[in-house]
Amino acid sequence: MQFSIKHKDISARTGILETSRGAIRTPAFMPVGTLGTVKAMSTDELADMGADIILCNTYHLYLRPGHDIIRDIGGLHPFINWRGPILTDSGGFQVYSLSALRRISDEGVEFRSHIDGSLHFLGPEKAMEIQCALGSDIAMAFDECTPYPAEYDYAVKSLELTSGWARRCKEYLNREAENRTALPALFGIMQGGMHKDLRKRSLEELVDIGFDGYAAGGLSVGEPKEEMYDIISYIGPQMPEERPRYLMGVGDLRDVLVAVGNGFDMFDCVMPTRNARNGTLFTSRGRISIKRTEFKADPSPLDPDCGCYTCRNYSKAYLRHLFMAREILSMRLNTLHNLYFYLDFFGRMRKAIEEGRFSSFKKEWDVILEHGD
Ligand SMILES: [Zn+2]
Repeated sequence: MQFSIKHKDISARTGILETSRGAIRTPAFMPVGTLGTVKAMSTDELADMGADIILCNTYHLYLRPGHDIIRDIGGLHPFINWRGPILTDSGGFQVYSLSALRRISDEGVEFRSHIDGSLHFLGPEKAMEIQCALGSDIAMAFDECTPYPAEYDYAVKSLELTSGWARRCKEYLNREAENRTALPALFGIMQGGMHKDLRKRSLEELVDIGFDGYAAGGLSVGEPKEEMYDIISYIGPQMPEERPRYLMGVGDLRDVLVAVGNGFDMFDCVMPTRNARNGTLFTSRGRISIKRTEFKADPSPLDPDCGCYTCRNYSKAYLRHLFMAREILSMRLNTLHNLYFYLDFFGRMRKAIEEGRFSSFKKEWDVILEHGD
């Protein structure tokens, strides 16, 4: 994997992350394909709308259908029919947020499946084994996502656990490298809660181990925006310049603008897809809820500035009707639009950085994104 920075506009930057399965233009948005599917979309549709990379969840695919089954079919790429790069998360976040009965030790985490209550264990080696079996292009080190709020002492323990696990993930891949050719790139995940000194320490410990990219985890976990922005603007510029910087799980575009302004390159979030299914749609004039009565007989397109299939072919009245009648097509058309809108936004943002006008782009969109119902 090779990362090259193309343009810089103060701290914002554009770049290309080259993988064996294709190039990723950064700043990049990664649609989330939790169970090996970006809900309601085919992989051809994702490629057509300009997605360079998608994210799949290790925890979910491990529980079902099982990484062994996916490995035996040749990996995630043939299994889900996606030719581009795939980033897999470590499973850590879901173990803490979805499963019951977690017992955390230095070895890893024992937990019960949120599906059938069966007992499982996930640790750094197991998380790497699963991500390798899936045929991931970018694997994430196994971490403990520090909850919010976290007392200082807890955040220290959590950070130390995460650093130790990160080292073991790297060692696992180094051992594997002796007998296999295709291994994923590995990103380390920084924790530290809302404590700046711990964020810095976490980053330093990861840089000592050495990773292909660095991620900030444990943000957008319930803290006030000001606290998140404070950490983003503190740590972003300190992350290694020559490596991709990934802000995990943050996808509100206002937050993305702050993060890109502080040098972050990669993002993922279920916001465009989940909101689409709930009828909340992003437009170049702000957010709208398609179920509103005012759209009942509105013949105009959802967003006249949007070039997506939905906006080119359907009226707001029809989209409202589909949503109210709970038709399957509603989820398809809404998701198509929201993802297209997000990917198009990232394309415009890259262009603005390349033309040295990121700060006016941010100002303009901060106003638009505030607008919504
Ligand atoms: Zn559209």
